[in-house]
Amino acid sequence: MNGSDAVIVFEGARAEYPGGTVAVEGLDLQVRPHELMVLVGPSGCGKSTTLRMVNRLVELTAGRVLVEGTDVARTDPVTLRRRIGYVIQHVGLFPHRTVAQNVATVPALLGWSRERIRERTAELLELVGLDPGTYARRYPHQLSGGERQRVGVARALAAEPAVLLMDEPFGAVDPVGRRRLQEEFWRIQRRLGTAVIFVTHDVDEAVRLGDRIVVMSNGGHVEQVADAVTLLAHPAPGMVADFVGAGRTARLLPITELTAADLDPLEGVGGPSGAGATAPGGPGGAPASGEGVTAAGGPASGARVPAVRLGDRLDAALAALVAGGPAVPVHDADGRPVGRLTEAGLLRALRRAVAGAETPA
Ligand code: ADP
Repeated sequence: MNGSDAVIVFEGARAEYPGGTVAVEGLDLQVRPHELMVLVGPSGCGKSTTLRMVNRLVELTAGRVLVEGTDVARTDPVTLRRRIGYVIQHVGLFPHRTVAQNVATVPALLGWSRERIRERTAELLELVGLDPGTYARRYPHQLSGGERQRVGVARALAAEPAVLLMDEPFGAVDPVGRRRLQEEFWRIQRRLGTAVIFVTHDVDEAVRLGDRIVVMSNGGHVEQVADAVTLLAHPAPGMVADFVGAGRTARLLPITELTAADLDPLEGVGGPSGAGATAPGGPGGAPASGEGVTAAGGPASGARVPAVRLGDRLDAALAALVAGGPAVPVHDADGRPVGRLTEAGLLRALRRAVAGAETPA
């Protein structure tokens, strides 16, 4: 893409710490408008340093970084940081300020009116899933780890920053809470369209969130830049393939959607009156929309299994197959039965994902 369209541009960026560690060298990278770009790689490879070059927490020793076309080295760091949201693992909320006051930090510094700040704070707390009536007046110590991270995200977004930098933001949250935060954050980012650089060492997090994923090795060296499916289907040989790991095909499951092409037809399931022949939602009946259907003819017949719909992710479809296999009915968005998913169909879907991925140049 044309460099002038990019929101963040690294050009030959280099950072050397006092003591001589060259954390990043010769980095060229562009973040596109509205893009959620994830940097992933082993500990110490230079991800955080790369991020911190953008808001000048680390100064470059060569090259440049542009944010919306302006060289950050020519921008006053304080002004710069007000335009750039930053969320870190232990989010660093001000302990003696309420949630609302924490969120309002930058708007207050920018001199917004009280009314505008109040509205914006309530809007942001809603956005991150915290009811303002319940949470606005609480203090950080009255929040769970996940709630604190949500407040951190709200605070970082408060003044509508051009760019959001996130450094392992959900790293200290338990796995279930972390999954939820990832999903919520992904939705928020889609809605706001803020360009994001997100640092993680967790491949699963990277493929779940990233529009593009940058795999780095020591010295901030870019090994591969690809969308999630391409990365998993065609990792560059060597470091990337090792890092992405043997489980890479399984990692496609939560990021691949079930399509009509993956299904077997509805007709002829176990014969006209055979067990499981009638798909839920068949004659006269609306399907048990959204809340589970009775497994059709599988070993666990009669058990409630999650309803499967077109567009569901393959991990959910696999769970339904395990609970209700060997075939489970699949519905369209309106709840009409459209086919059956079998183990063979699931495999087809995975192969389709691999085959459909761009082959890296
Ligand atoms: P990552 O985020 O990928 O774990 P970092 O960017 O934090 O990696 O670190 C890259 C390299 O720079 C590492 O070798 C690390 O030890 C070194 N480093 C990071 N911060 C400093 C610092 N403040 N002073 C000296 N060396 C540092």
